Amino acid sequence: MAYVITEKCHGERYGLCATVCPTEAIHPGTYQGKDFMVIDPVTCISCGACAAECPVGSIVESEDMDPAWAKINAELAPQFINNPKVTPRAKDEAPIKPTNKLK
Ligand code: SF4
Repeated sequence: MAYVITEKCHGERYGLCATVCPTEAIHPGTYQGKDFMVIDPVTCISCGACAAECPVGSIVESEDMDPAWAKINAELAPQFINNPKVTPRAKDEAPIKPTNKLK
């Protein structure tokens, strides 16, 4: 099983999760014209560090919790894997998406 980045990150992307991932399993990119990032299920070791770091709680701990976005993460990972790293936003910065709230 792997952790999954969900819809809350799509068009939000704080980018903090990638800075704490011990296996560099998280890759940024653009999906449907919006900033996003995905977890590569091949390299994720399910340590949970990323989920704790996301200010808006966009990361779930298994594919079963959001199968649709799990599929998107798995499909995009090979495309995003060589994208350059992004500069993270501050953890206390207000969310861009009106539906997101800081934890
Ligand atoms: S659960 Fe751990 S290994 Fe998997 S993406 Fe998150 S930080 Fe990386």
